Amino acid sequence: MTELIVDKSRNFKAQSVFSKRLHLNEWRSESAGGQEFHTVMFNPALQQFTCDCADYNYRGKVCKHIISVIRKYAKNINLKII
Ligand SMILES: [Zn+2]
Repeated sequence: MTELIVDKSRNFKAQSVFSKRLHLNEWRSESAGGQEFHTVMFNPALQQFTCDCADYNYRGKVCKHIISVIRKYAKNINLKII
């Protein structure tokens, strides 16, 4: 994976998300000053990031939590903002 398409509003919201690595392929991604948090995972076999939030699971979009993790920890991945 070298490029992910993300939409403009989620990209903007990702600026207020703080992510920290818990394990090699697992991060805690929090917003609202830590009041709300989700777990972002990376599956190396599928080369895919997943998140446990509703935005990712029900809307099937790259969420602000994943964007935050990529910006901080996976700078080799280009985010294409549309
Ligand atoms: Zn998420």
